[in-house]
Amino acid sequence: MGLFPMLAGMDHIVIVGAGQGAAQCVEGLRRKGYGGDLTVIGDESVLPYQRPPLSKKYLAGELPIERMLLRHETFYAEQRVEMRTGRRVMRIDRDRRCLHLDDGSLQAYDALVIATGSRPRSLPLTGVDAPGVHVLRTMADADALRIEAAVGKQAVIIGGGYIGLETAATLRQLGMEVTVLEAADRVMNRVVAEPVSTYYQHEHARHGVTIRCGARVSGLRTGANGRIAAVLTDEGELATDLLLVGVGVVPNEELAREAGLACDNGILVDEHCRTADPRIYAIGDCSNHPSVHYDRRIRLESVDNAFEQAATVAANLMGVDTVHNRVPWFWSDQYHHKLLIVGLSGGHDRMVLRGDPASHSFSCCYLREGELIAIDTVNNAKDQMAARKLIAARFRPDPAKLADSSIALKDCGG
Ligand code: NAP
Repeated sequence: MGLFPMLAGMDHIVIVGAGQGAAQCVEGLRRKGYGGDLTVIGDESVLPYQRPPLSKKYLAGELPIERMLLRHETFYAEQRVEMRTGRRVMRIDRDRRCLHLDDGSLQAYDALVIATGSRPRSLPLTGVDAPGVHVLRTMADADALRIEAAVGKQAVIIGGGYIGLETAATLRQLGMEVTVLEAADRVMNRVVAEPVSTYYQHEHARHGVTIRCGARVSGLRTGANGRIAAVLTDEGELATDLLLVGVGVVPNEELAREAGLACDNGILVDEHCRTADPRIYAIGDCSNHPSVHYDRRIRLESVDNAFEQAATVAANLMGVDTVHNRVPWFWSDQYHHKLLIVGLSGGHDRMVLRGDPASHSFSCCYLREGELIAIDTVNNAKDQMAARKLIAARFRPDPAKLADSSIALKDCGG
């Protein structure tokens, strides 16, 4: 411990939230030689697992729970990590450096990592708590949805984002009749360019999923048995056997806010992922950090970000001054199509299409003042692999070359 001056007095590190960020953080700390006590507290009853398959292979029944777990019980035992699953932290007492848990117990910490993630946004509609209405965030949510999925039954999904579209593809694969209601004029409108939205809308239509954009949901109707029976829209009533609400998430920041830590669309951290309290860090969906690359504050909802921030925190806790500076990336699998988004497109002033969507492999490149700031790639591994480095290096492509997909992305310099 003497080797790491910043670790003086850091005998016990506690992580709140037992998701992907937590699993990566304990692994990083042990790999870097942290020998103190480690405790992870999470309110789900399972050990940390991969969330991405919940809307895909897990929902389809193609992945058993053992293959969902990031690490098995023996790993945590061998690494001397105390896993307090099924426990909720109710309050952080920063003066006494301890946590109040829902069973009345106290958990002391020397350093605390908040990795509480996010939760599905709800809709202010009567009937949203009725049986048959689902959200999809946890393994328990996916289990509940799978039990109700059956060939020939109707499913309505509110929200044409990642959850809505991935789940639509899976429920269709399970033989359901699926309708997606999206408020905007195209699906995934905040995260991808118009050609990508159009491509996915066509693919869903080809697989028999109905997508209604510009849909206004005004209410829900339950049947005599209390179950969801129909969704009311401005175009009329849509009868359904089940409803999935996938309209985004809100960060779980309340613990931090109630402990007096600043929050604004997530827990505010610095470039080391540290809050204003030097003993408390926040990572993943719940944290809002200054992006060095994009020169603005961002809150990211992605597995990659949770992993990368966990690695940053593990390094800083080990006394290695580490600034979090990564170009983010996101992916979505729908049917057999691979969508990969590298970077953040907000603030772009030009979009260049590379390749023909009809060929099922293309990219949309976003430029700001001549610099490549982000790219959406559809079934285009070559562009996607090159993009992360190029974006990080502030690549300035020639738009004419960029539009020619026969020229490799890295050779498109101006
Ligand atoms: P999301 O990606 O933010 O998409 C929500 C969608 O619902 C948006 O298109 C939004 O449109 C629409 N919407 C909002 N209010 C609506 C309303 N009243 N009626 C109809 N549509 C409405 O969020 P999500 O799909 O719920 O996903 C939840 C979280 O899981 C996110 O953090 C996401 O990143 C994560 N996730 C990621 C993946 C992946 O990366 N592959 C897969 C699954 C889940 P507007 O944009 O116009 O508001």
